[in-house]
Amino acid sequence: MLFQRIAIVGFGLIGSSLARAIRRGGLAQEIVCIDRAQAVCDRVMALGLADMATVDAALGVLDCDLVVLCVPVGAYKNVIAALASGLKPGCIVSDVGSVKQAVIDAVLPQLPADVHFVPAHPISGTEHSGPDAGFAELFEGRWCIITPLPETDIRAMEKIVALWEAIGAKAEIMDARRHDLVLGITSHLPHLIAYTIVGTASDLETHTKDDVIKFSAGGFRDFTRIAASDPVMWRDVFLNNREAVLEILQRFNEDLTNLQRAIRYGDGDTLESLFTRTREIRRGVIQAKQEVPPAKKA
Ligand code: NAP
Repeated sequence: MLFQRIAIVGFGLIGSSLARAIRRGGLAQEIVCIDRAQAVCDRVMALGLADMATVDAALGVLDCDLVVLCVPVGAYKNVIAALASGLKPGCIVSDVGSVKQAVIDAVLPQLPADVHFVPAHPISGTEHSGPDAGFAELFEGRWCIITPLPETDIRAMEKIVALWEAIGAKAEIMDARRHDLVLGITSHLPHLIAYTIVGTASDLETHTKDDVIKFSAGGFRDFTRIAASDPVMWRDVFLNNREAVLEILQRFNEDLTNLQRAIRYGDGDTLESLFTRTREIRRGVIQAKQEVPPAKKA
């Protein structure tokens, strides 16, 4: 057993999946659910995902040796302000947020000095939300990036690494800014593109839109799945990883303009050469075993 009492704040897809995985692995004596909605607390208890559920964050974290924030990153500041007074000395605070530097900036100044902060981000999810959407296998075989600070207590970090490895994830240590840039390319930009394409389609006149939906199998369908992801979570990702996303977007716009030129001037060599290179990236993704769909509810 890695922890005595773990509080998970925000029992949505990620929070409830984490609770299920911790329960399945017998990794904690006790799990506390903290959620702002009483209905979610009731549902979590009915599902048997926690030993106690409360909307009172400071009460919920009492006596916990680990607290994991699983709310949208824009909510961190208020959530930490609400629970900080209940944290016991030596407690580890961690999170699952999709952005890391902004999270560190929001959380660190508010934490008592005798509490350890170990930021983390599991690279795994689906487009579903809420406590019923979670499943214990969500993190299996996936990366969990841990972004410790230079002053992070090494034993606290090792415990968080051990937790993620015990639930089947592969832990990787990375600098927070590097995380934000890498995830900006691999996750945030693709989501932005999906939101744009599906948004453009939804602006089409009705008869065209009907045909787009009818014949959506040609690639559009995959974009609609990504664009169905939680609006609040993704609003907060873009607002909190602004610099990295804007830099990547600038490069993306330049590359798109080059393709536009190639199409306009019939430059087939440029198109073919890019499409050949991108095929190689796809092979690399498969070789790195990153093509594994989530075990359930993908
Ligand atoms: P989710 O299913 O929508 O759950 C979010 C939870 O946070 C819900 O319990 C929600 O309560 C609560 N919440 C929302 N706004 C809040 C606020 N202002 N104050 C307090 N609680 C609030 O979302 P999720 O997918 O689990 O995402 C949670 C975190 O995981 C995010 O930080 C996200 O960046 C990260 N993450 C997500 C994925 C993914 O693919 N989904 C992957 C990796 C990491 P209500 O039900 O009352 O709204």
